Amino acid sequence: MQDHPGVSPQPRDPGALAADPLQGGVSAGRWSTSANPNALAPPLTDRLLRSWLRCRRRAWLDRHGPAETRRWSAHRALTLQDQLHSFQSLLPSRPAHGEAACRAGAEGVVGLRLRGDGPGGLRLEAHPPLLLRVESPSRWGDHGYQPVLVRQGRHLTREHRLVLALWGRLLAAEQQAAVPEALVLAGAGRQLQREPFRLGEGLQHQLEEVLPRLARELEVGREPPPLVNDRKKCTLCCWRGLCDREASAEGHLSEVSGIGGKRRDLLLGLGVVSLEQLAAADPDTLANALEEHGEQHRDVAAELVAQARVQASGEARRRTPGSPLPELATAPGVLLYDIESDPDARDDFLHGLLRLERLDPAAGPLGWPDPGHAAQAPYQPLLALQEHGEERLWQRLRALLERYPDWPLLHYGETEAISLLRLAERQGASEAERSRLRRRLIDVHQRLKRHWLLPVNSYGLKAVATWLGFRWSQRGVDGARCLLWWRQWRQDRHRSGVPPRRAAQPLARIFRYNRDDSLATWAVAYWLLEQSALSNAGVAKAPRAERPQQ
Ligand code: SF4
Repeated sequence: MQDHPGVSPQPRDPGALAADPLQGGVSAGRWSTSANPNALAPPLTDRLLRSWLRCRRRAWLDRHGPAETRRWSAHRALTLQDQLHSFQSLLPSRPAHGEAACRAGAEGVVGLRLRGDGPGGLRLEAHPPLLLRVESPSRWGDHGYQPVLVRQGRHLTREHRLVLALWGRLLAAEQQAAVPEALVLAGAGRQLQREPFRLGEGLQHQLEEVLPRLARELEVGREPPPLVNDRKKCTLCCWRGLCDREASAEGHLSEVSGIGGKRRDLLLGLGVVSLEQLAAADPDTLANALEEHGEQHRDVAAELVAQARVQASGEARRRTPGSPLPELATAPGVLLYDIESDPDARDDFLHGLLRLERLDPAAGPLGWPDPGHAAQAPYQPLLALQEHGEERLWQRLRALLERYPDWPLLHYGETEAISLLRLAERQGASEAERSRLRRRLIDVHQRLKRHWLLPVNSYGLKAVATWLGFRWSQRGVDGARCLLWWRQWRQDRHRSGVPPRRAAQPLARIFRYNRDDSLATWAVAYWLLEQSALSNAGVAKAPRAERPQQ
């Protein structure tokens, strides 16, 4: 057998190794113990390792958490879909299954569960999604295998590297031949990239250090680790609902809008450990204490305290006088504009516009339909199929916008403005036309943040509109789910055997979701108009919106 510098094989069957009479046990390589206290513990899997490297608490919940609170994640479904497309681009034919396929020398193999022992006799288990044949001898003949990983994101992370190291180690033991290299794939949506990755000794040392720590944290009776410091990581996690409730109940600092992992660390270092404590802090004292970590932290101190106070009180507070949406005072109508995108393919596939006409231009700011009545407004979805070219989309968009020249274009967040202006530029719109467009675009999110502090932990559309009592007509749908529907529709629409009605269903759901987002944007805009009207009428304090039950 060749001597490889990469991951070397560990014995597959410890029972087949020579008994050590002095120890009273068997020697099973450098990771064995004579009396294995971990023999009865459930195995540590590659999934647990991956979870733990993302968030220690996540691995604990994967093992001990209440399964009924675990949420299905559209993001995970997208990841699996992306993985499948990458494998299909890599292999000329379908991969074969299991150990028989390895013996037969199949090009690609799926479904091989790898088992082995780790440091301290820890039981390990992994299920690499694909093994690729390499021309290197193993117990299966003149060939062996290497694990294949599909990378999400731009770079290979520590999580990727250690999972690959685990796969490499267990595969080396299984095939009784070293695994010097793994294969990393990326970019299936555009052009498949293949990157060889060396499985060196250094990674094995890291694995040896990490696995016992993971095992200790998963022991029965251990407390769950704390919430992850940077809760942006929670967005895609299946345990988010559970952790959100806990964060809210304990007044976790990450609940304060504007506090990420780094700022939380700084505040903890100053002894400010909860939302309530931040709300009670003196802004000047806090600013002075934060200054030594950088001028930018000093500048946001008052902002953070104000936000925490609003969240602690549950009452919205106006930041600046004046109308947040003066353009609507005389406008005959508004177009509510929302884009759906596939970020991996850099494709804005849907431009949705809701046409909302003013009821009575003479009736002042509230001559507008309320969010309930706005649901009757005509909705125009413009699909942007790449095969039709961008020019066609631009012509349709431009024609629609020109039909309502005095109607402002309301959107939530900067994406729509950036995309539309770039599209106009690429399509050769003059500077004068683009500047007219720029003047029509109104970012409701930006106006809201400039004029109001709300008792919400995020100023994203979902959080704000939900706080105002708005409900999306399809429960639990988000951008990732929408993207999943989009890919499903693209796949099914030309496929024979799929009934046209069923093939069209995902598209109908996307339109509904996109329209709901526009209605939610209107709910926020309408609330802003309402508050201005109340203020003009001399009502000193904005009424507190009823916080809906989560
Ligand atoms: S929701 Fe966040 S804190 Fe909770 S397990 Fe997931 S990543 Fe960790």
